[in-house]
Formats: sequence, structure tokens, C-alpha cells
Amino acid sequence: MNGSTSTSTGRAAAAASAFRTLMCALCGFVYDESEGLPDEGIAPGTRWADVPDDWACPDCGAGKAEFDVVDL
Ligand SMILES: [Zn+2]
Repeated sequence: MNGSTSTSTGRAAAAASAFRTLMCALCGFVYDESEGLPDEGIAPGTRWADVPDDWACPDCGAGKAEFDVVDL
């Protein structure tokens, strides 16, 4: 097979820029996917979708539903 499917030039930079930042609507606590929350057991690079559903804001206790995506 001579694979000539060079349509996608996905590089690491594209993946890095895909990280999102989310902010708690109640207290303003910021969760950065690229940084995670090591103190909470969430490794750097953890996507918001992979954060446990029972995770709560460390500052005010709000659930994930209270967080909004922040576009910088
Ligand atoms: Zn909060």
C-alpha cells in the first residue's frame, strides 16, 4: 500500500491550542486544561470532559455545570 493521504498536517501545536480554559460562574475560579489541577489529582492536559462529573470547584464547591468556557 502506498498511502498518499497527506491531507492532514496535524502537528503538536494544533493539539496544544485546542486546550480550553473554564471559569466558575460563582467565584471565578479558573480551570486550565493544559495545567489541570495536580493538587486535586487531575493531571495536566486533562480535558474538561475527562474531569470527573462529581468534581467540584475547590473554592466554592460548585459543580461542573457552573463552569463556562473562557475564550482568550
Ligand atoms: Zn467556584
